[in-house]
Amino acid sequence: MDFNDSPEEAAYREKARAWLAENAAAHRAKFGELKPNTAEHMAAAKDWQATKAAAGYACITWPAAIGGGGGTPIQSVIFGQEEGKAGLGYGYFTIGLGMCVPTVMAFSDSETKKRFVSPAVKGEEIWCQLFSEPAGGSDVAALRTRAVKDGDEWVINGQKVWTTGAHYCDYGILLTRTDPDVPKHKGLTMFWIDMKDAAVECRPIHQMSGGREFNEVYFTDLRVKDSQRLGEVGDGWKVALVTLMNERLAVGGSAGPNYREVMKLARDLTGPTGPAIKDQAFREKIADWYVQSEGLKFTRFRTMTALSRGQTPGPESSIGKIISANQLQEMANTAVEMEDQYGILVDPDHAPAEAAFQQSLMWAPGLRIAGGTDEILKNIIAERVLGLPGDVRVDKDVAFKDMPTGR
Ligand SMILES: Cc1cc2nc3c(=O)[nH]c(=O)nc-3n(C[C@H](O)[C@H](O)[C@H](O)COP(=O)(O)OP(=O)(O)OC[C@H]3O[C@@H](n4cnc5c(N)ncnc54)[C@H](O)[C@@H]3O)c2cc1C
Repeated sequence: MDFNDSPEEAAYREKARAWLAENAAAHRAKFGELKPNTAEHMAAAKDWQATKAAAGYACITWPAAIGGGGGTPIQSVIFGQEEGKAGLGYGYFTIGLGMCVPTVMAFSDSETKKRFVSPAVKGEEIWCQLFSEPAGGSDVAALRTRAVKDGDEWVINGQKVWTTGAHYCDYGILLTRTDPDVPKHKGLTMFWIDMKDAAVECRPIHQMSGGREFNEVYFTDLRVKDSQRLGEVGDGWKVALVTLMNERLAVGGSAGPNYREVMKLARDLTGPTGPAIKDQAFREKIADWYVQSEGLKFTRFRTMTALSRGQTPGPESSIGKIISANQLQEMANTAVEMEDQYGILVDPDHAPAEAAFQQSLMWAPGLRIAGGTDEILKNIIAERVLGLPGDVRVDKDVAFKDMPTGR
């Protein structure tokens, strides 16, 4: 199998590189290096998104008529790789453009699409995904947020949790329970909502890294119009599956240091018995990470080959997140331990490797949960890739209101 770019792909890569070289430099000159999660960082992210949209490099696979690039999935992968190498790639738009807006596009009328798609592509409006609740995470269909019809409106009460970016988002897609008398997957309905409505309250969740990316979100008598419904009443599960299928593609790899950077650290750090790179147990770990990384690389190549042939990657793409998130956590643990007393420093000006391993130590556990926990992804691989017998599902045919809750 030939993993090199085809002549067309190589030409696209060259064009993307040239555009990035010029525009990334101009963007940096305008904004410099900014601290994430500040107003300035958000302004820079919006500016970069608008610049990309104007050049056809935002939402590359979407039709140009709605603001996209009119390109192919493989062009989107190529641009993402080059953008990563250029050190640019803001995370604020991933959930909205990767999961929420595609759901709006699939289930709303042409007026709604016209209103929302283009501003989202240009980075003018950001979207969040309001699915998880204290009683419904992996089992999304166990959610309890109620929507009750009142004339031409719905009245929504309940709570979501772990909503990434809810505090800066303009709109969100919200999965609710509209019929508790039918089994859990059948009584759900999806809406789009205005996150700035006074009946929506975001309470921050503070992370051990010092950051705050998530929120609890509370709805108290939030009124939404029936025209804000995405899909049919009671068909929310079907709508949510479209979002979740896109999620597996959007939340693919892991951002963080790789095994080569652990090796570099091990060469630089000297313990009582010499450089850590000479340690036999450490060298065995490096060998394992190398083998895993090569396996991941070729699995990604298979995905790219499928994309370049116009196919859609299937459930096997779950493998990438399980391996890379676990590897990231293991490498971070090892590296921070190796740093000894410096391991407790998170200040990039003082910690070795600019505290990259400290940051991934705090981030990797979340990566193992977001977009499907390790266990859920293993179930998917077992059932849908290997064809093993399915999980036992005792509540499949029970009305939601009759499900035991322990309360
Ligand atoms: C970084 C991050 C960002 C997130 N962003 C969002 C967001 O923007 N919007 C949103 O709606 N949610 C978001 N979430 C929430 C995320 O989707 C949920 O945390 C996730 O679905 C897991 O649900 P839970 O936390 O309720 O765990 P639970 O589902 O309660 O699981 C607890 C444990 O039980 C295991 N388990 C559960 N069911 C099974 C089973 N059938 N078989 C085997 N093991 C099982 C799980 O794997 C896990 O180890 C985010 C989470 C993280 C960490």
